[in-house]
Amino acid sequence: MNINGLKIGIIGGGIGGIAAALALRQRGAQVTVFEQAAELTEVGAGLQISENGMVVLRALNVVGEVPEAGVRSYGTELRDYRAGRLVSRLPAPSAGATYYYHRADLLDLLHRAALREGVVFRLGARVLQTRKHPSEAEIGLDDGTRMRVDCAIAADGGRSEIRTDLNGPETPEFTRQVAWRATIPWEHRVEKPKAALTMGPGRHVVTYPLRDQMLMNIVAIEERSDWREEGWRRRGDPEDLRARFAEFGGPVGEILKQVQDPHIWALFLRPVARRWQNGRVALLGDAAHPTLPFMAQGACLALEDAWVLARSFDEQSGIRQALTAYETRRRPRTRKVVAAAGANARNFHLRGPMRLAAQAALMAIGPRLSRKYDWIYSYDATV
Ligand SMILES: Cc1cc2nc3c(=O)[nH]c(=O)nc-3n(C[C@H](O)[C@H](O)[C@H](O)COP(=O)(O)OP(=O)(O)OC[C@H]3O[C@@H](n4cnc5c(N)ncnc54)[C@H](O)[C@@H]3O)c2cc1C
Repeated sequence: MNINGLKIGIIGGGIGGIAAALALRQRGAQVTVFEQAAELTEVGAGLQISENGMVVLRALNVVGEVPEAGVRSYGTELRDYRAGRLVSRLPAPSAGATYYYHRADLLDLLHRAALREGVVFRLGARVLQTRKHPSEAEIGLDDGTRMRVDCAIAADGGRSEIRTDLNGPETPEFTRQVAWRATIPWEHRVEKPKAALTMGPGRHVVTYPLRDQMLMNIVAIEERSDWREEGWRRRGDPEDLRARFAEFGGPVGEILKQVQDPHIWALFLRPVARRWQNGRVALLGDAAHPTLPFMAQGACLALEDAWVLARSFDEQSGIRQALTAYETRRRPRTRKVVAAAGANARNFHLRGPMRLAAQAALMAIGPRLSRKYDWIYSYDATV
């Protein structure tokens, strides 16, 4: 269908919401993004965007062939925790190239591209609910105003409230895993930057460089059940972080010594949504399929969603048909990636003899391991 002039409201100005706004605006829709925050900001942390996400960023003209702001990845080193011994080197995925982005930089690139195309942003606009009418969707804001649009897309993140409009209340499951994140200044530029994944019993640390290798991004995950706060903005105690990862030596031990301002949050699990859309309102990104961070794919999946959603409008004759086609196409892939991320949590945290056996296997098959996930990285939503 031709969506020229169609009124579309996007709830949430994160990576998924802005990418969807851009893809729909580029097809002529009148798009407004409703974002609850007063400013579009992202927490100071990194994101790995693999080729399946990069193809969408290129197709949306957010980045060029040589993407600015990202650091190209040359693979991942798997290390053991005590002295940081190298267990195996995983080459970068054979499909295209993966880039390390500062979240704020990626969001800024998307935001600027959306403004250039004429997407309208309403900041400080918290959406409380959506309603489906026979030929419209209604978006209810916290200041009491109600907006009528032809179609609403809820990209309001892993704790989506709009998901409840479609699926009813759900109780998330605490994973008994807690994540720390931080960035530190970095001065060791190398020709071929890599991520390091350092594995210990019940915990692991991922590090990779950002912003022209001037910052080091750190995500540390520990199995722990006494911390259940889910928000991203809670500051943690750096000494507590160091104490909890005190047995981590080698390069990562040195990096942890420099952390000054970590954040901490508990990881909760919500399943892929049972119902993604009702013919007028659809979920996108983490709102539809929250994923644990262990495959580094949540933002990439949100980018894929954005492209597939917009293309479903090209291919279908009406809004209901487009949203149904979008759900049908996205559900199987997102389920499979979410399951792969869940399985990795267990693999990274093995204890005792299981850990040593897994390391021996990794030494032997490590270089081929990236190929196991080719189906993730080589997926091209834009063809
Ligand atoms: C530690 C960690 C590391 C990760 N690393 C990677 C990685 O390397 N690669 C990768 O691809 N993914 C990664 N992810 C996942 C990625 O961060 C998310 O999947 C991605 O940000 C989801 O984007 P989104 O737009 O769906 O949601 P969000 O980024 O959560 O955006 C939702 C937006 O909606 C707004 N909002 C919420 N409710 C309302 C409302 N009621 N009204 C208006 N606005 C609202 C919020 O303020 C927010 O701006 C990681 C996640 C974690 C936790």
